Amino acid sequence: MTTSTGKTNLLGLTQPEMEKFFDSIGEKRFRAGQVMKWIHHFGVDDFDAMTNVGKALREKLKAVAEIRGPEVVSEDISSDGTRKWVVRVASGSCVETVYIPQGKRGTLCVSSQAGCALDCSFCSTGKQGFNSNLTAAEVIGQVWIANKSFGSVPATIDRAITNVVMMGMGEPLLNFDNVVAAMHLMMDDLGYGISKRRVTLSTSGVVPMIEELAKHIDVSLALSLHAPNDALRNELVPLNKKYPLKVLLAACMNYMAQLGEKRVLTIEYTLLKDVNDKLEHAVEMAELLKNVPCKINLIPFNPFPHSGYERPSNNAIRRFQDHLHHAGYNVTVRTTRGEDIDAACGQLVGQVMDRTRRSERYIAVRQLNADGDGQESAARN
Ligand code: SAH
Ligand code: SF4
Repeated sequence: MTTSTGKTNLLGLTQPEMEKFFDSIGEKRFRAGQVMKWIHHFGVDDFDAMTNVGKALREKLKAVAEIRGPEVVSEDISSDGTRKWVVRVASGSCVETVYIPQGKRGTLCVSSQAGCALDCSFCSTGKQGFNSNLTAAEVIGQVWIANKSFGSVPATIDRAITNVVMMGMGEPLLNFDNVVAAMHLMMDDLGYGISKRRVTLSTSGVVPMIEELAKHIDVSLALSLHAPNDALRNELVPLNKKYPLKVLLAACMNYMAQLGEKRVLTIEYTLLKDVNDKLEHAVEMAELLKNVPCKINLIPFNPFPHSGYERPSNNAIRRFQDHLHHAGYNVTVRTTRGEDIDAACGQLVGQVMDRTRRSERYIAVRQLNADGDGQESAARN
């Protein structure tokens, strides 16, 4: 990957790509492993710090290559230990990365795109419109930055980041090659050495790309379901009109089957008051998923200004969870973390230079609603 400086950015290169790079400059392939360890285990971005690389090679590398992560605009730490970084990517937009500590586990929530084109009705990222795909270096760069902030402990010895979820801004399957390359680096021992069960890709349901995924990598899969039937899902996740539930669930089952070992699909379900949180929805969902090996993660809606949706009451959440539990499902409710720094699911907004003009339309409709009846309601375009 060549950057605006005309140099090759080594940060996003997988091991085979790094070996190819050393081939191309007439150097031995084993240098790939040495340099990758400096970059990913020790967080180094200066070739002069690579003490097992001779001076002549370091000079050569400086002339043709660089190690460039996204620019850190801010880092906030919540009272509950959650951390949030805002980083600027090459397109000029900003995206967000969130670290959530929980007992011995530390989960990093990584963004894949600046904005998102899919426009799910309850998602603040979707309301921003779409600007750009992140490069592989910008995706893995978020892990690199977070890892460095914990003191650049070699990843294989003691890790603050035990899990990565592609659940930040954007739809990862619409930035396929870069996300797959970055996930290879997350799992590679020369990268971050995280097990394939602890790297999770979350998708709203891009069926052809779910089918493609199994040919490239065997990470865990999460499906953003949000509705137990097509009529309601069409409203909440517009992509459902293209890939309805039947084909979507079949693609997910197929993906799991191709992994060739016992793995379960994670089902994410954002609970929206009076929209998809009724008992009848839980009943329908239990029926829909009866042949799908899965665990269910309920996400009470995290509000953002002018969304037009509300979070259900604790009673409604419990009723929904209890029904699924009694139907035999493993169901958890995601606790909201990092609220004081706006780091919760669906609250990630970054600063996206929208190319779709959706954010303009969203603001215009909001205005119209506010002028019309004094109430602002959700702009579902
Ligand atoms: N585009 C991917 C991954 C990013 S969204 C996807 O849709 O799966 C990560 C998760 O946060 C998804 O399950 C999404 O539906 C959920 N989410 C989005 N907005 C939310 C909100 N306001 N409150 C709670 N969860 C939300
Ligand atoms: Fe995009 Fe996911 Fe938000 Fe839908 S929920 S708009 S797919 S980021």
